[in-house]
Amino acid sequence: VTSIVICGLRGRMGQTLLRLARERDGLDVIGGIDRDAGDSDGIDVQRMEDCEALLQRAGVVIDFSSAAATGALLGRDALRGRALVIGTTGLGDDVEERIDARSGDVAVLTAANFSVGVNLLLGLTARVAAALPASAYDIEVLEAHHRRKADAPSGTALALARAAAQGRGATLDELRRDGRSGDTGARPEGEIGMHAVRGGGVVGEHSVMFIGERERVELRHEAFDRSLFADGALVAAQWLAGRAPGRYSMQQVLGLEP
Ligand code: NAD
Repeated sequence: VTSIVICGLRGRMGQTLLRLARERDGLDVIGGIDRDAGDSDGIDVQRMEDCEALLQRAGVVIDFSSAAATGALLGRDALRGRALVIGTTGLGDDVEERIDARSGDVAVLTAANFSVGVNLLLGLTARVAAALPASAYDIEVLEAHHRRKADAPSGTALALARAAAQGRGATLDELRRDGRSGDTGARPEGEIGMHAVRGGGVVGEHSVMFIGERERVELRHEAFDRSLFADGALVAAQWLAGRAPGRYSMQQVLGLEP
């Protein structure tokens, strides 16, 4: 049985993870980390600064919290030799660097999206971008999420745009264009446009459009329920438990990449 600690346990994803982990064989949620300590549905929740002893008993830590919490978690001594699944998005360069540094003594798996469909779409996006020339097909990435989402564009949209840029032999930084407004002028060749819709209860929708003069190819994904992501994160946790320190991806868990 793999002992799980959930960072962000009181949140939307944390609560979904707890519910699904209880239904799944081989997993035992032994505690949580969040802003407020105390009981949550029978699980003991600790504050970040008091969580060393709890972390020491964890097989895998699953983190769906915030950039600040993920950054703080990466600084805990007790993580050494353990496995860490990170689903938090909008991390920023400094936290990304900390993840790289920490993968020397922790097995870390990060994914902007834990669904089979989106991970398949990442590979397809790179292939379509490589096949359709920038001179003839313009790439635009659209995403929609619920009104409470804190970061934009979504981590998944950024991952899809990165895959598209990679398919075109470039980096996203070179091609990225966030939204458009005002006197924009004509669309520069090769640009990858990114657009974020926010409203209501949308769980997550992503489209990668390849728009030519006479046709449009669209790769689209829609998540119906956030249990899709929680389920994928638990599969990842079981896959990651006991692995050597290093950085791992959801593509590897799903067998889409060696
Ligand atoms: P949420 O706001 O409902 O939950 C976040 C939880 O983390 C809250 O309980 C909050 O109190 C806690 N938290 C935040 N900062 C903290 C800190 N500094 N110290 C201690 N606890 C802290 O958010 P959510 O909808 O559950 O999403 C959480 C994260 O997961 C977001 O970054 C979101 O984009 C991401 N997400 C990723 C995927 C994926 O497939 N990778 C899917 C859904 C959501």
